This record gives sequence, C-alpha cells and structure tokens, in this order.
Amino acid sequence: MTRFLFFAAILIVFPTHSQKLKSPSEFLGYGLGTEFTRHHEVVDYYKYLAEAAPDRVKLTIYGQTNERRPLLLAYVSSPENIASLETIRQEHLKSTQGNGNSTKAIVWLSYNVHGNESVSTEASMKTIYELLTTKGSYLENTVVIMDPCVNPDGRDRYSNWYNQYKNTPHQVDPNSKEHNEGWWNGRSNHYMFDLNRDWAWLTQVESQQRIKKFNDWLPHVHVDFHEQGVDNPYYFAPAAEPYHEVITNFQRDFQVILGKNHAKYFDANGWFYFTKEVFDLFYPSYGDTFPIYNGSIGMTYEQGGSGRAGLGIITGIGDTLTLKDRIAHHFTTGLSTVEVSSQNAKKLNEEFKKFYQNQNFKYKSYVLKGNKDNLDALKSLLEKHEIQFGDLSSGSYKGHAYGSGSNGSMSVDKNGMVVSTNQPKGTLVQVLFEPSAKLTDSLTYDITAWSLPYAYGLEAIASTSLVAPQSNGGAVSKSMINPNSYAYLTDWNSLKDAKFLAELLKEGIRVRKTDHPFSIDGKSFERGTLIITKGDNTHDPNFVQKLQSIADTFQKEIVSTGTGFVDSGKDFGSSYVQMITEPKIAVLSGGPTSTLRFGEIWHFFEQQLHYPLTVIDDEYAKRVDLDKYNILILPDGRYGNYFDEDQLSELKDWVRKGGKIIAMGGAINAIDGEKGFGIKVKEKEKETEQINTPLPYEDAEREQIKDAITGAIFKTKVDNTHPLAYGYGLDYFTLKLGSSSYDYLDGGNAVYIEDSTKPFSGFAGSKAQKKISKSLIYGSEQFGKGHVIYMVDNPLFRGFWENGKLFFANALFMIN
Ligand SMILES: [Zn+2]
Repeated sequence: MTRFLFFAAILIVFPTHSQKLKSPSEFLGYGLGTEFTRHHEVVDYYKYLAEAAPDRVKLTIYGQTNERRPLLLAYVSSPENIASLETIRQEHLKSTQGNGNSTKAIVWLSYNVHGNESVSTEASMKTIYELLTTKGSYLENTVVIMDPCVNPDGRDRYSNWYNQYKNTPHQVDPNSKEHNEGWWNGRSNHYMFDLNRDWAWLTQVESQQRIKKFNDWLPHVHVDFHEQGVDNPYYFAPAAEPYHEVITNFQRDFQVILGKNHAKYFDANGWFYFTKEVFDLFYPSYGDTFPIYNGSIGMTYEQGGSGRAGLGIITGIGDTLTLKDRIAHHFTTGLSTVEVSSQNAKKLNEEFKKFYQNQNFKYKSYVLKGNKDNLDALKSLLEKHEIQFGDLSSGSYKGHAYGSGSNGSMSVDKNGMVVSTNQPKGTLVQVLFEPSAKLTDSLTYDITAWSLPYAYGLEAIASTSLVAPQSNGGAVSKSMINPNSYAYLTDWNSLKDAKFLAELLKEGIRVRKTDHPFSIDGKSFERGTLIITKGDNTHDPNFVQKLQSIADTFQKEIVSTGTGFVDSGKDFGSSYVQMITEPKIAVLSGGPTSTLRFGEIWHFFEQQLHYPLTVIDDEYAKRVDLDKYNILILPDGRYGNYFDEDQLSELKDWVRKGGKIIAMGGAINAIDGEKGFGIKVKEKEKETEQINTPLPYEDAEREQIKDAITGAIFKTKVDNTHPLAYGYGLDYFTLKLGSSSYDYLDGGNAVYIEDSTKPFSGFAGSKAQKKISKSLIYGSEQFGKGHVIYMVDNPLFRGFWENGKLFFANALFMIN
C-alpha cells in the first residue's frame, strides 16, 4: 500500500514521462539478462532516456576509446536539480575551499571497468530505469552520475566474443567454449591495460578523459562495480585491512552504514555476501582508493561471475548462476547506495568539507630536483590531477632524504620544484609523494610502494616545514641549429630523448652515439650522446630542416659543431662512435606471455615512443622468418619449456648472426643457463631454520608471505658505463614485483642489488630479502654478433615507473 502511494506521488511530479519510459527490455527487444548488450545498444538506450526524460537525465559524451567507442556520463536527478546542475556543481566544489552551502549528495556509479565483468553495464540500465520510475524520491536531494561502461573496448571484446562462441540455447556446463575466453580476453582495455590500476597514473586515454570530469565533480560517494570468480558470493563494503592511514574515521564508518543497508536487502532475499575481506584500501590507483584520497566514500562491489559465467553457469556447489541473478545483485547495491546517500546528504556534505580542510600532515612540502625532462613528466601528471606545484631555483632544504632513506639536506640551484600538502588535493599529494606508506597489514591485494620521487627518478626531500615556491627561470629558448656545421650533438638521459631519436630514425636520419665521454668546443658530453653528422646524411637534401623541426617538436637543445676533432675522448670517426641500427622489432604475444605485460610493451611503442613494432602471435610464431627483424622482445609470462631444442638452436643462430633478444621477467626462464645462454637462476639460500614448534594451520598464509615481495622499492647499483644504463646516475630505485632472482652475469651487469636488501618503501618478506641479495636487475650478454638483454624487473610496469623507461630505450637503441 505504501508502495502504491509512493508511486502515485511520482506520477504527480512527472505526469507524462513516467508512463512512457521504456524499460531496458522493452527498448532492446529482449529480456534484460537474456543476451549481452553491445556498447552501441547501451549508448542508444541512454540516449533514448535522455531524449524521453530530458528534465531528469542529462547525457554527455566525455571522450572516446582507442577503438573509437564513445565514453558516456549520464546525470540523473530531479527536474529541479537537472535544471540547475551547473549551480549545484559549483556550490559543491566550494566545499573544497571550505565555503559554500551545498546540500545535495553527489553519487558516482562506475560500471564495467573490467570489460569481461560484463554484468555491470547491464545492471546500470536497470538501475537508471528504476531511478527514473520507482525511486524518484532519492533524486530530490541527490545527483547520480552514471558511467555505464568505463571500458567499452574491453566489454565489446568480451560480448562480441561471447556472441560468436555461445551455444544456443546457452550451455551451463563450464567446459563449453562460451565459458573459456582465452588469452585475448575482455578484462583490460585496447592496450591490455587494467584500467582499475590506472586512476592515479593516468597512462590510458580512458582515464585521462575521465579524470577531467571526475575533478569537475569530486563526488561524495563512488562505486566501482566488478565481478570476481564464479563461486564467490557478493562482496561489498566495508573493505578489508590494510586501510591507508589517511582514510578518515568518517570514510571508514560510512562504509559500514552502506554495507549494513545492502545486507538488509541481501538478507531479505537469502543472497550470500561477505565484507571486510580480500579487497583492501591501500594502493592509490584503484576505483575505490583513488576517490577516497579525493574525499569520496570509494568502494568496490564484486559480484560472482566474470568472463567465465556467460548467460548461465553451473557453480562449484551445483547451483546455476545466471546473468539475471548477477544483474539483480548489482542493481540492489547500486540503488541501496543512492538510498543511503540521499538519507545522509547533510552529513556527506559536512564531512566532505572537513576532508578538504588542511589535514596537517607530518610532511608539509616535497622538494624535488633533477633531470628537467623527468620533472616535466611529473608536472604533466600533477596538472592532470589539478595538484598545485611551484618551481624552485635556489636554496638548501632539510628533511627526509629519499636517496639515503634518512634525514639529510639537498641544495637546489636550478630545475627544482615543490609540491605541498596544504592545498585542496593535499591528501592525494601525501599519498603519492610520502617516502613510505604505513602498512597496517602486509597481506594486501597489490603493490605496497609507488612514491613518485622514486618513480620519476628525482632527488627529493620531504620537509616538515612549508616551502614557498619561487618564480621559474622563464620559457625555454628555442635552439637554432647552424646549417653549415660538421655535426650536431644532443644529450641522452630521458624518455623524451628516446622519442626524439625514434622520430629521427623514422624520418630516415642516420644517428650515431658515443660509447665514451668526450669534450669538444669546451663542452663535455656523456656516454650515449647522439651525434648526427652531415656526412652521414648527404642522401637527404632536407636533412637540416628536418632536424630543426624535430628538435623543435621535442624542445631538444642541439649543439652544432664545425669539427669532428674532439678535445678529449674519441673523434666522431672512431669505432667507438657507432651508427645506431634502425630497430626492426618483433614482440611475442599470446601463448606463454602475460596479456598485461605484453600490453605494456605494445602501449610503450605506439603511445609513448611512437615507433612501429610487429606483434607476432604464438599461434603462428614458429612459422615466422625472424631474419626480417633485429630485435625480438619476449614479454614476461609463464614460459616453462616453451622453446623446444630446435627452436632454441634457431634462436641462438639468429642471435649469433646479430639478433637481439630482450627477455623480460618470466621469459628469462625460457632461455636461461640450462638452455644455452649465460644467465643463471640464483640458487635458493639453504633452509637452515630449525622448526622448533609446528606452525598453526591458520598461520600458513602469513608464513608464506615471508617469501613474497608485493611491489616494493629497492635501491640498486648502476654501472653507467654499460650501454643499458647510459643517461643514469650511479644508483637507481627499482620497483620489485617478486622475488625471482638471478646471479650476476660474468660481465655486463648494468643494474644490480648488492648486499643491502631492505626495501626503501613497501613490503618484502624476510626470506625474499635474503634471496634477492647480490642479484641482477638489468644486464646483457654478447652472443656471437648479437646480444641477449635480461630485464628481471619490469621498467614498463603499468606504464608509470617513468624513470625505468630509459633502460628499455637503451636496450633498443644503445646496444649493438
Ligand atoms: Zn574487476
């Protein structure tokens, strides 16, 4: 009865639209949950709602994916709120400055960030429909922002695949093809990046376009809808430990209020669920933590299902899990979230304002200095996050020194910057810059260290007092090159330099590099300096104009010289000044390789370096003539004995003739010492510990993590006379993702760990610390005329470890 009265009230407010609105099933022409809806159909339904109920739905296209699918946001609220949406937004943002009188709750619902967790988008359509028909009362004081599909390329990859391979009618037997997606699955985006690891790093186009809208709104509540394994019940907030220490009591408590409301509905339906386990709140680049560090109540909801579940599947206990069940659960938590937010709009606004007041963190300012290109790369990330920073050109600063891990001081004479925590985004600054985040529990879902000064290879001080910025040194002057020179010289120490070189090579310009430091015309140049001579480029009448134009594009400073006769070092005609071989690159995909690790390489070439590569799939790799390429990249993965005797001997012949293998992570095992190349797996330390008391069964998981490194930062030694390390200093902070370790090579160790094995930041188990002592990070081995390059750690991990990328570029260009 009350239900009827409530519905009648809605009809009075919206007399025409409610009667006419088509449900998803009516619009799509099939029952929701009986088919997977393709992205363009989802877009059509949202467009239809925005046209049929323009007073309550406003639709915006906020971007486009790599595969040109539109990215949408639907704003759903009462007619009054939709009419004054911009005023509501501005009033809400005033809270971040401690002003304003915002009264509305802002709830952001993100669906389907993992493409093959495909129920989410279906559930979004039911959720918006019910908000517009039966749940209109929630919207009187609440603006709901819905992103029906964060990852349309991945989701369509899954749904198109499923439609191609499904049985008719669908087969619930898990062994059928429709439940086994294979290597090129729909979880990640076009470049096989996990968008739920990219919120802080913004390496992907989806994240880059979304962050603008996110910063425009900074919602009170953000939900990221996911799926987990078929046999898991539903997971919702409150989350598991560890919680990052910046998370406020209110942010913790409100998760409990929400969770209890969801539980009420799940209990009434007899549905299973769990809370407080598995999904922790620490790593800052998730769809729950990132919004939390921006003041939201950020949460992950996980339905059982994923790419394995299809339209229906038999579970481990013999029940049938259907897409309709999965929709019902996500729909229920979605609406319950809006309900609770609406009931607590006042409290959400008060607490949001408090979050944005100065949190008085221990470190007030982070002072950084170093390579200008790395500073610029960091500034570009901070700008995307709307984090304020300033330049520094002089002074001496005291505090926690990142390089030593203890108190110290650092002087700045140029190329300095400061980022402080007394700004609206202060909490985010604290999380991204603090030297080491405090872990309340070492059992976590992800990496435990990410501190940006290490990631960007910058010297830094964390200061407990506030440092004021100084005016910057002015704009960079354009470097005009002298057309009548003998040669043109430019330094080599950043990814930007590698992009510059890649562009020169693509334009057919021949470039040399020096393997010895030299000085000329009173200026010194380091190893790796690029030497572009007129004599090498007489084939191109437009050589000088091309060089000037490419230098302008990359803002590269070029030194012109009238002679090849150096003051010290090797002359440009010396055999130590070699021509850079134009890389012809093949990368293995599929089979033993990891999709994510392959994707990082693919993305690096196409979206960062802008240099072509050929992707060779495992299915036909064995038929490919390798002689067409001079570099073969083997991405990290599970290789085992992937190459048989014949293939190994073919590979060796190819390397002997001058080929170059770059073996990353697990790929090293495919070619290690037992198989004919020089690298050897480090023998495990002998287990000498006596077991005095048997370990309780329930402690087994905690005992295991003694062997684990869950993404921690270690200080390593660098031999920067090795071409793999050109452009680096004498030490390097590496992000170690596991405890696999290899002995030093007989020669050619470019980066390695000595005795010291405690991480500077993050968690590493006691046994794992011992295991990686005296082990190789990056090195190379000459084999005939060719080389094998070993990358034990991954410099391209999630595309965010900016300072590692030059190692990868060196492997491509500097070793020959
Ligand atoms: Zn997921």
